[in-house]
Amino acid sequence: MTIVGIVRERREPEDRVAASADVVKRYRAQGLEVLVEKGAGAGSAISDQAFAQAGAELAPDAASVFARADVILKVQGPTAQEIGRLRAGQLLVGMLDPYNRRKEVAALAERGVTAFALELLPRTTRAQAMDVLSSQANLAGYRAVVEAMAAYARVVPMMMTAAGTIPAAKVFVVGAGVAGLQAIATARRMGAVVTATDVRPQAKGEIESLGAKFVGYIPEDAATAGGYARPLTPEEQKRQAEVLADHIRSQDIVITTAQVPGRKAPRIVTKEMVRSMKPGSVLLDVAVESGGNIEGSRADKVVSVEGVRILGPRNLPSRVAPTASALYARNLFNFLALLFPEGSEGPRIDTEDELIRSTLLTHEGRVVHPDFQGGNGA
Ligand code: NAD
Repeated sequence: MTIVGIVRERREPEDRVAASADVVKRYRAQGLEVLVEKGAGAGSAISDQAFAQAGAELAPDAASVFARADVILKVQGPTAQEIGRLRAGQLLVGMLDPYNRRKEVAALAERGVTAFALELLPRTTRAQAMDVLSSQANLAGYRAVVEAMAAYARVVPMMMTAAGTIPAAKVFVVGAGVAGLQAIATARRMGAVVTATDVRPQAKGEIESLGAKFVGYIPEDAATAGGYARPLTPEEQKRQAEVLADHIRSQDIVITTAQVPGRKAPRIVTKEMVRSMKPGSVLLDVAVESGGNIEGSRADKVVSVEGVRILGPRNLPSRVAPTASALYARNLFNFLALLFPEGSEGPRIDTEDELIRSTLLTHEGRVVHPDFQGGNGA
């Protein structure tokens, strides 16, 4: 019988886990065995007992999970030690970050592992139930607002009190993809006056439908066929900076979420823009791990610039780990249904299926994904 293996995540900071008790029950109902390393759910408030009650078998350590499981489910890509524990023919599914981990991709191929990187799923309707980027970015957007508002020393909503009226805080969201749109919605719920920007023309309507005002500049053909943004030309960046510099000066909180897939995040907020803000203002760079949208932001550090603070928390979804794990685990379950259709004996790697083909990194000793061939590069 097929064994699905879950281990505690070893990369830091990471409190998420690739299964929930609810999803273990579903795997069992599908006829799959589930083997969970003891303590794997601790960061997500899932006890060993909860996993066991749902029908999982508990393993004393990660090594025994790697040794026995046919499929290893992960949140983040494997460490060198974990790669060393994987064996030929074993399946690995997770957010393997292949653009930044080409060496690991090559190593997985060498070990004969069949590895799937779920970030590479197309953003289509059929893929929505497994769309890990969306489920996690949505939570990142929410948590970014919570953290920025906690760091902001003034109150956010307008308050009319006997002692006087306090105006609502002004929040500006840069990048209105999944994370940015949730940041807008969350900031609105807290009573902030919200504005937002993006470079894709569709984003303007989405910003407005959430009750925020669009501010900014939309270059021509800025959206690619895949629905993502393309990098801006230096001339376009200059025009964008002119519009934003004027706006950012008057903002209390700025949250940046702009990304261009497979590339360094675009630098959008300059030091001068930060300096133009009032003391006590807060910026939070959700893109800090991919290079940062804000000049001067640093991973997991609070940088003060003349009384303005720049936050750069890494891995925001992990800061709401119980929720993030629950959604991520369901995404994985839905993806596994493609690999193990009902009644199947072993995995079915059907490369005719767009969702399988787009995520399959390595198979039968080779790097099979066209974007990552050519070996040991970065
Ligand atoms: P992302 O994380 O790649 O980028 C975040 C946002 O930053 C995007 O909106 C992007 O346009 C914006 N951005 C990039 N460069 C910028 C710049 N220089 N200045 C300002 N903004 C900039 O994007 P995402 O959140 O993964 O979403 C990408 C697309 O996928 C969106 O169109 C989204 O609606 C779409 N999507 C579709 C589905 C679906 O099921 N059909 C699901 C999820 C997302």
